[in-house]
Amino acid sequence: MGKLLGFLDYDRCLPSDRDPLERVHDWDEIHKTLALEEQKEQAARCMYCSIPFCHSGIVMNGAVSGCPLHNLIPEWNDLLYRDQWNTAADRLLRTDSFPEFTGRVCPAPCEGACTCGIYQPPVTIRQNELMLIERAFESDHVKPRIPKRRSGKRVAVVGSGPSGLAAANVLNQLGHVVTVFERADRIGGLLMYGIPNMKLDKKFIDRRVDLMKQEGITFEVNENVGVDKPVKELRQNFDAIVLCCGSTKPRDLNVPGREGKGVVFAVDYLTAATKKLLDQSVQLPDEMNARDRDVIVIGGGDTGTDCVGTALRQGCRTVVQFEIMPEPGAERAADNPWPEFPRILKIDYAQEEAIAKYGKDPRNYLINTREIVRKADGSIAKLITDRIEWVKNESGRMTPQPAAGTQKEWKAEIVLLAMGYLGPEDTLANALKLSRDKRSNIEAFNYQTNQKGVFVAGDMHSGQSLVVRAVNEGQLAAAACHEYLTK
Ligand SMILES: Cc1cc2nc3c(=O)[nH]c(=O)nc-3n(C[C@H](O)[C@H](O)[C@H](O)COP(=O)(O)OP(=O)(O)OC[C@H]3O[C@@H](n4cnc5c(N)ncnc54)[C@H](O)[C@@H]3O)c2cc1C
Ligand code: SF4
Repeated sequence: MGKLLGFLDYDRCLPSDRDPLERVHDWDEIHKTLALEEQKEQAARCMYCSIPFCHSGIVMNGAVSGCPLHNLIPEWNDLLYRDQWNTAADRLLRTDSFPEFTGRVCPAPCEGACTCGIYQPPVTIRQNELMLIERAFESDHVKPRIPKRRSGKRVAVVGSGPSGLAAANVLNQLGHVVTVFERADRIGGLLMYGIPNMKLDKKFIDRRVDLMKQEGITFEVNENVGVDKPVKELRQNFDAIVLCCGSTKPRDLNVPGREGKGVVFAVDYLTAATKKLLDQSVQLPDEMNARDRDVIVIGGGDTGTDCVGTALRQGCRTVVQFEIMPEPGAERAADNPWPEFPRILKIDYAQEEAIAKYGKDPRNYLINTREIVRKADGSIAKLITDRIEWVKNESGRMTPQPAAGTQKEWKAEIVLLAMGYLGPEDTLANALKLSRDKRSNIEAFNYQTNQKGVFVAGDMHSGQSLVVRAVNEGQLAAAACHEYLTK
């Protein structure tokens, strides 16, 4: 432990964010950084626990607790405190291929499991991680690591989200010749087209991809495998395939008035906004532009929050967010004890911005949409909703029921659907005859599918999850693929 009882000497301190009313006028990242000495004090709060729950990464009560990558958190906290920045960064990179991504967007299950958090606010693990990796880049400590020997084996990675990038990174370091195929026009999956720039500046994805190119990985964009690039070609030209195509089938809203202009899936909307940001010559489709419009976001999770933040930056007139679940409490409930992931009310960046602009939280809980009412010209006029109650049905399952007399009308011109995902698309699964689990995710044993030499990782395997889990899956699938190629 860097400083004996450091947690008693220093309070938890995070860098302040940029002023919400200022930052909604640009797309720059919202977070500032701490001075080095302050960050070291934060590392000094770590107690180097003999059983560090922060790096356990186990699933408890349906959510991950501790770091799924099993990052060596107490070790690099200690090294950070002792000014051993490079050694600390190396220790971090041993388990996490991309700390610059997880350090920005991870909801930090490590902090929810930190022992300090039992009686005090937890250690600022995610911020310490980000400081370490950014300093390592700034000081040129992160350099291309070009493998000395090549195995001669060729691997195709399909999909370039965090799981695909992590799999490509590990397989390349193990000496295999790796090509990443991506159907979008840019590399990064949901890191690029999903998570908005204010949470993860796209220049950090390009920085990592440039490094990976220098290390020998080939990237091919605009290649839709199974559609315009037959899987047969991949089977012939590569010794193994790692599928990392995400869980991209969005849950739809089946209500009257759903069909027609103005109802848009969240990721399509977020993608269009990022494309426009990265290339001003791109035309933003009319229904993807919230300027001077009333926007309703259906879905109270992180994707919905990113839609709120994006609509605010586009200059929407109003924005509200519907959530079907009840409002969580400010403190952990009795059935959600430490070290489980805390299910408590968060005021995320976009809600903070909406509160600053309109004076109230955009979220409305226990709301179900009954109908989208359209005008004669087909545009959206309003939404009709009911307040719901969760009641047990005959088989004991909790189901949402509309409460009598709670009907309400909401002004709307754009409706963004952020209600989660139903699993991976069918094209590749059908083309490769892959077996699927009960939730329609691709089934695998130690990341190998029912087809020899075809591996799967990330959301396509686990269902919609987190960047940190996708990186972990990519790394583990690469290890399984390496074993297959070398046995
Ligand atoms: C809006 C949004 C915000 C989120 N915010 C966070 C957050 O803040 N923190 C967090 O931890 N998690 C967040 N998540 C979840 C996280 O982004 C995902 O869990 C993670 O990106 C999954 O990684 P992946 O590599 O499995 O798939 P993806 O990131 O979905 O990447 C899959 C890639 O495969 C490509 N692809 C698909 N089919 C083909 C094909 N046939 N040929 C070629 N390419 C193909 C796709 O174009 C895509 O680029 C968010 C998700 C969304 C939707
Ligand atoms: S649980 Fe918290 S205090 Fe203990 S080692 Fe991990 S970060 Fe440090």
